[in-house]
Amino acid sequence: MPIIIKSDEEIAIMHEGGRILAEVLELLTAEIHPGTIISDLDTIVKEEYIRRDVVPTFLGYHGFPAHVCVSVNDEIVHGIPSGRELQNGDIVGIDLGLTHKGFVADSALTVGVGTIGQEEQRLIDTTRRSLWAGIQAARPGARLSDISHAIQTCAEPEGYSLVREYVGHGIGRAMHEDPQVPNFGPPGRGPLLQKGMVLALEPMVNMGDCHTKQHDDNWTVSTLDGSLSAHFEHTIAITEEGPVVLTLRSDERELAATLAEPAKVRR
Ligand code: MG
Ligand code: MG
Repeated sequence: MPIIIKSDEEIAIMHEGGRILAEVLELLTAEIHPGTIISDLDTIVKEEYIRRDVVPTFLGYHGFPAHVCVSVNDEIVHGIPSGRELQNGDIVGIDLGLTHKGFVADSALTVGVGTIGQEEQRLIDTTRRSLWAGIQAARPGARLSDISHAIQTCAEPEGYSLVREYVGHGIGRAMHEDPQVPNFGPPGRGPLLQKGMVLALEPMVNMGDCHTKQHDDNWTVSTLDGSLSAHFEHTIAITEEGPVVLTLRSDERELAATLAEPAKVRR
């Protein structure tokens, strides 16, 4: 499938959806405490989406039974909200999607519950940085794998591994469009990036090795070795001026300002 280029008008609609998604993700993050019941987060998303008149993209997607994916500790992605209670010291990945005026936005973050350890915090911080390194590399004239390489070379020197089986993706009227965006690989390969491409970048970083296992629920994916994993994701548009984060949250404005700087080529 060719990469579908979006018009300025389409990107403006995707930006509207991205802003709504960021707001709901911030509301959810504020609800993360020791004792939070995970399925209550799903209820919040359901209610907020009705209020904001957007469609829960994940609900029913290949049969997924909830509005949000919540993945705790060694769970990497695709956790189904359950009656499980969050404990002090847990790390929790929240992955959220919505459809607004026919276009999808997709974003995720990982946060600590209560007080977390230094190692947990370092994993979260590194995963966030690796996402932003990937975003920084997403400019017209760069190659797709420059993004992958930027993500990998941010996380691996910290002793972590990047999940191989799950990757970033093009996004638009469908949640998953071409191209796939791996979180590893040599630079300078794949299609040239150009204005109008919209991508969801989403590194999944494990404290241990990169291998994964799927649970009997056919959704939840965990690290095979039981090590902790973190996940951050943004939907971004490539413009002539550089990358624009469509799902930017209010605490990330300073990070977004760094995108005005041209990417430092790391080869
Ligand atoms: Mg996602
Ligand atoms: Mg995604």
